[in-house]
Amino acid sequence: MTTTSGHQFATTAVHAGRADLTDLGVHALPIDLSTTYPLADVESGGAAYDQLCGGGRPRTGESNVYARLWNPTVARFEDAVAALEDGEQAVAFATGMAAVAAVLTALVAKDTPHVVAVRPLYGGTDHLLATGLLGTEVTYARQDEVAAAITDRTGLVILESPGNPTLDLVDIRAVAGAAGEVPVLVDNTFATPVLQRPLAHGARIVLHSATKFLGGHGDAMGGVLVGDADFAAMVRPIRAITGGILHPMGAYLLHRGLPTLPLRVEHQQRSATQIAAALAEHPAIRRVLHPSLPGQDPQGLIGRQMSGPGSVLAMELRGGYEAAATVAKRARLITHAVSLGGVDTLIQHPAGLTHRPVTAAAKPSDAILRLSVGLEDPGDLLADLDHALS
Ligand SMILES: *Cc1c(COP(=O)(O)O)cnc(C)c1O
Repeated sequence: MTTTSGHQFATTAVHAGRADLTDLGVHALPIDLSTTYPLADVESGGAAYDQLCGGGRPRTGESNVYARLWNPTVARFEDAVAALEDGEQAVAFATGMAAVAAVLTALVAKDTPHVVAVRPLYGGTDHLLATGLLGTEVTYARQDEVAAAITDRTGLVILESPGNPTLDLVDIRAVAGAAGEVPVLVDNTFATPVLQRPLAHGARIVLHSATKFLGGHGDAMGGVLVGDADFAAMVRPIRAITGGILHPMGAYLLHRGLPTLPLRVEHQQRSATQIAAALAEHPAIRRVLHPSLPGQDPQGLIGRQMSGPGSVLAMELRGGYEAAATVAKRARLITHAVSLGGVDTLIQHPAGLTHRPVTAAAKPSDAILRLSVGLEDPGDLLADLDHALS
């Protein structure tokens, strides 16, 4: 799997955003914590301000002006993520939700406030759309209902694949075809660019909660949007005005996670596939949701859109909510906590936590637990689950 740099993905993961380090005479990523930047004179300072507030990148030799407008450590991380997603540019935010909010704000500003959303979505995104807090209007649609849901005021179609928390796969190319001229945003948080690169399948924008797999160590929050240069120039001013830029320490930590991203994702996926198969035989479990299992990829998207099933799975317990709550409480090695995509395994109850604000119609079953499989030995994880399930 090569990237636009001409290198294999694993090579790009190690080197992206670091091309100038040797010339700078450093080996590790430099961190620039400046909140403000010296200006040569008022005229050139003003020109730099206009350039950055207009959504551009700083011109050579020009000041970065102010860290809400531009930060070089953040820009490095953005360049790396853009390279991994094979996109033109990326724009990074303090959290994934700040990135979602920036996209929605842009739509309202363009007088196309209608969003078609393919459920299931991350609970926070679903909630933000359902409340219309930022002035958007939403129509929820299944994959085959997208074309009919679009109006001349539709500014965006949004989907996740695999979906959260039931791991449903959505055909990005089919949705992009149905959307026509309307841009499709794919939340690629669960798949990561290791397993799926949505821009190659007709998506125009990719979103990541970098808090999850990209950082991978559970110690930094961030969100990233990837798209073409026009899209980046449209959302950067929104970030500058509303203040959602990623902190440079966060950018450093998230960037530090990227070289190991392919190794982590592939190892975690292997363990998750093994755990899904074992849990599917467990008498306390009604069904396991993971695209590796028979019948769970009805559109044949693994191999065509996504190279593997990923490392997040869900399980529906025969004992319903009581059993699910007990398992979450009894896990010892596995931490009962929201979030996913880190080096350690987490278990959580979507209906009660991540999908708590979602309306009843779209809420997952309260017998479901979601498991994000980490880098521990899968035998130890299964032993902990077996203990919690018994
Ligand atoms: C966590 C998550 C988000 C939100 O990201 P934050 O960094 O928590 O703001 C969005 N989409 C998905 C799929 C997520 O898992």
